[in-house]
Amino acid sequence: MTLKGKCAVITGSNSGIGLGVAREMARAGADVVLNSFTDREEDHALAAEIAKEFDVDARYIQADMSGAEACRALITQAGRCDILINNAGIQHVAPVDEFPVDKWNAILAINLSSAFHTAAAALPMMREAGWGRVINIASAHGLTASPYKSAYVAAKHGVVGLTKTIALETAEEPITANAICPGYVLTPLVEAQIPDTMEKYNMGREEVIKKVMLERQPSREFATVEQLGGTAVFLCSDAAAQMTGTTLSVDGGWTAL
Ligand code: NAD
Repeated sequence: MTLKGKCAVITGSNSGIGLGVAREMARAGADVVLNSFTDREEDHALAAEIAKEFDVDARYIQADMSGAEACRALITQAGRCDILINNAGIQHVAPVDEFPVDKWNAILAINLSSAFHTAAAALPMMREAGWGRVINIASAHGLTASPYKSAYVAAKHGVVGLTKTIALETAEEPITANAICPGYVLTPLVEAQIPDTMEKYNMGREEVIKKVMLERQPSREFATVEQLGGTAVFLCSDAAAQMTGTTLSVDGGWTAL
């Protein structure tokens, strides 16, 4: 399948899942717009590498997804957005009664409100182009909860609800909106937690991964960024044209429990 001629905008894509999804989009032939809140040489270099490796147009646009105007400006600056992938996200862990208000506000803004703002700016472009895909990277925490992650769980459940609403509003158009719900994915962020967890539990790397980190993931395997990218590419295929307003779990069985 080819996405040649389509432009995919992926928020929060200078590392982890966003970068993996951007690479799979480019592998499928789409032009890509990478994004994060930083504006470093290496951010732009990532886009240049993708352009070279996959022979597509790739750009990096700095925009902080915690602000409404910046979210909308990202889409305007991209100029075209056939495939919108809302991926930017942060996490903070604390009990509800101790949860810092600034962290709550930041998580709701970056993990949830940004998807509303980018979609609001991108939908008119999709209508104009006569085709569109909204793909929101939610989480297993968009379908289930864990203690101490109130803001993240609330935001990700919100993303699932927003996805359904966009799907209904575009149901009679050649536009779909779906949410991908990953379980644990081995991104640099997760990799960085392994040494501390090994020390805390006095366990080796493999034991920490299987017994602590993947305790709720029955496959006892991490999902990979390539698998998530492949799922996003599938959602852009004709086979998925009648899939809208739904969630696709890539979680090794987490939500089957
Ligand atoms: P990550 O930290 O590697 O990626 C997060 C991305 O968001 C980065 O590119 C970061 O620069 C960007 N970002 C953060 N704040 C931003 C802001 N204010 N403006 C713009 N960009 C910003 O983490 P990841 O694991 O790749 O997570 C990506 C998404 O996948 C998140 O929405 C996360 O909730 C979701 N997710 C991750 C996992 C996992 O196990 N890694 C599981 C389920 C869902």
